Parts: sequence; C-alpha cells; structure tokens
Amino acid sequence: MPPIYLDHAATTPCDPAVIEAMRPFWSERFGNALSPHAFGRRARCAIEEAREELASLLGAHPSEIVFTSGATEANNHVISGVARSLKDKGGHLVVSAIEHHSILEPAKRLLEEGYTISYVAPDQDGTISVGAVEAALQPDTILIAVGHANNEIGVIQPIADIGRLARARGVYLLVDMAQTAGHIPAHVGDLHCDFSSLSAHKFYGPQGAGALYMRKGVLCGSLLLGGDQERSRRASTQNTAGIAGLGKAAALCRQAMAQEMKTQQTLRDALIGAVLKEIPRAVLNGHRIRRLPNNAHFSFENTDGEGLVAALDIAGIACSAGSACTSGQLAPSHVLKAIGSSDRMALGSLRITLGRWTTEAEIQYFIEQLKIKTQFPLPLRRG
Ligand code: PMP
Repeated sequence: MPPIYLDHAATTPCDPAVIEAMRPFWSERFGNALSPHAFGRRARCAIEEAREELASLLGAHPSEIVFTSGATEANNHVISGVARSLKDKGGHLVVSAIEHHSILEPAKRLLEEGYTISYVAPDQDGTISVGAVEAALQPDTILIAVGHANNEIGVIQPIADIGRLARARGVYLLVDMAQTAGHIPAHVGDLHCDFSSLSAHKFYGPQGAGALYMRKGVLCGSLLLGGDQERSRRASTQNTAGIAGLGKAAALCRQAMAQEMKTQQTLRDALIGAVLKEIPRAVLNGHRIRRLPNNAHFSFENTDGEGLVAALDIAGIACSAGSACTSGQLAPSHVLKAIGSSDRMALGSLRITLGRWTTEAEIQYFIEQLKIKTQFPLPLRRG
C-alpha cells in the first residue's frame, strides 16, 4: 500500500490543475503585477481573475479581497489593524478560547499593550455558544474573533448567529475560515462577518498564498507598509503564481464542494463508527454532527498520541496528534483542555482528516493499523 495521507487539516496536496494554472507565472508570464507594461498587465489580469474566483466562493465583492501570504498574516492584520484603527472607540476584544495561535498570539500582544480581552470558553462538545459571546460583550468591545471551524476537533461554530449579534451591537466580527473555505459553504454575507481569513494550501492550492476578506467600509489599518499593492491594504510584490493557484483551487472547490462533502462525510462516519466500536479506549472529541465532513478526532486512554502518530507513520499513515501546529510539544492542546479533557486524554489524542483523494481502502487499512497500534497501551512520555 503506498503512503496514506490523512492529515489534510495540516495541509492538502496541490490539485494537478492548480499546478498547471500556476506554471506560466514562473516562466513566460513572470511580470510584476504593478508594472505598467505588457508583462505586468498579464500578471495583473491573472490576479484579478483569481480575486473574482475567490470572491464567488465567499459570496464577496472582488474589491473586498486582499491577497496575503496566508491565514496567519490575515489574522495578525485584523487583530492589530482593528485595534489601532478603533483605539478611540474602545480597547476590549472577545476571543474564543479555542482559536488558532495566529489569533491568540497577536491578541496576547494587545493585552501587553493595555487592551483587555475576554476569552470565551466552548461547551464540552466544542461549541462557542452565541449566549457565551453575548455575555462577554462590553460597551467598549471592538472585535469578536471566532473561527468558523476548529482546526483540531473540527467543530463548526454557529457563526451566523454570532454574526447577527455582532452586527446588532456594532462590533466587528473576524471569522477564521482556514479550515472551512472550499470545504463547506462559507458565505460572508450569510455569516454576517466583517473579516475572514484563509490559506490556499488548506483547499488544494499552494502554500504561502492566502487571503483576507474585509467588508467594504470597515476600518482596519494595514500590517505591511511600503507599497501600493492590494489597493494599499497590503504592501509587497504580489505572489502572482500563488494567487493564480489560489483562484484555480477556489474554482475547483466551488464545483466539487457538494459532492466532496457527501463523500468525505460518509467515509468519516464509517471511520468514527469503526474506531468507537473496535477500540474500547477511544473517545470522540467534538460534536458528533456539527463538525467538518473530513474531521475525526479521538482521545485514547493511557496512550501517547505522539507515539501513536510515530507508530502509524512507520505503517505508512500520516495523521496528527492534536494539531500539527502544536505537535512536537508535549503540552496538552489548549483546545482539548478548553473542552474539559484531562491532560492524560489530551496527550493521547489523534486527528484524522480526509481529503479529495481519500479512499475506502485507505480508511480500512488505517482502522486495521490503528487496532494493532493501540492494542497495548503506549505509556505517556514525561516531557
Ligand atoms: N487558522 C487556522 C484555523 C488554521 O488551521 C491555520 C493553519 N493550521 C491557520 C490559521 C494558519 O494558516 P497558515 O499557517 O497557512 O498561515
């Protein structure tokens, strides 16, 4: 059996059609999109086409899309930009406790600068309830940040309700769509968000290309200064190949989404059913239904998650302990702690995320191997 990739939440392989769409921009169409000559015009044209594709996927206007290097940059941009632009209005932010570090860390920096932050804890099933967000609001709140779906446990949040609340209170809402754009419907209008962030490599596009949606008229200072690119909202020469790839990936996802959601959900449900039946020490983390169609996340009692990932790797299977962004550390994931997992259960966790080319045979092989690798408890390492 060739290697099996079950870590699509960390990154996805580039679709071959995306690679083809990018290729000319590394050779004959290499121009700088800001240049006034034909080379520049051709690059500019590709960027604007990609902007339209992404805007269609998100239900946005093309002028509301700012291309970035990824979701990390987009999240940093919004947190620091809104704080700076709305300093006179207030200094309080409401942030879900299970956000990605690219939101938590810039928020922490604001805390050091004198802003105040309320962290909203999820329910046990990983849901950030609209009631909990509402309870955290203050008269001086300027921004709410809640991810569309969590990158570890895959729980999809009630963003439309949170968005309606934010709009009614006149507070900006940032929605991290890194795990949902291209995978499930993520329309900025339906969700009532003011900002959203994404990375192309999470939906079969290239690494190092991403985008920020900024609703028309919002106030948010720039992160990168020193150039007029992206309507002066993000300086630096545009990554034309990456942006063209992002646009192609968005177009492919828009066509394939409904079918892919169905296929992956069927495989994922079979996987969850088999793991819970065959491995008595397994617990599913996150809401059983309101989760990404490709996400399964378990904790195994008395098991070292990192050790389990290494054992599966030897069997040719790539998946992740907790989240790829925190693996390598032996600290329990902040997401699992926030939903009430004990350290022991959090350190014994495994995330399996399916993708466009995952097959039933691969899932069957994974289950066989998981049964073998969890037959004898792997004692937790001390670290
Ligand atoms: N937000 C979420 C929810 C993510 O899963 C990730 C990637 N793990 C990011 C932000 C950051 O994406 P990137 O590293 O591509 O900037």
